[in-house]
Amino acid sequence: MRDASCIFCRILAGEAPAHVVHEDELVMVFLDINQASPGHLLIVPRVHVPYWWELDEAHAAHMGVIARPLMQALREALQPDGINILQNNGRAAGQEVFHVHMHLIPRWQNDGRLG
Ligand code: 5GP
Ligand code: ZN
Repeated sequence: MRDASCIFCRILAGEAPAHVVHEDELVMVFLDINQASPGHLLIVPRVHVPYWWELDEAHAAHMGVIARPLMQALREALQPDGINILQNNGRAAGQEVFHVHMHLIPRWQNDGRLG
């Protein structure tokens, strides 16, 4: 359930700092430390599981459910032109933190980022 060497587990336990924007019994949502764009959020389940396919249905479903109001909050706060949902599984797919998570990345027209 928890990996002492995992930075997201340490944030979830209150042992490492993060700018938290939402938390409930299943997830914590905080700003990415290396913002791909302003407002870049990470939705992180309160269970140490490396990949989406290993995640239990309750956490996976809840991450999808709360993505919607979080996107609405980003739209109200920052007025982006679009928002990417990104979820990497495996080093080959760009995953760097092996505690499953979902990115919400606000986007602006011609913001110069790929994709
Ligand atoms: P991945 O590539 O695994 O999908 O994304 C991992 C994300 O976690 C990266 O965007 C990275 O900036 C972010 N990250 C890594 N360490 C920390 C940290 O200590 N705090 C926060 N808030 N984000 C982190
Ligand atoms: Zn972890």
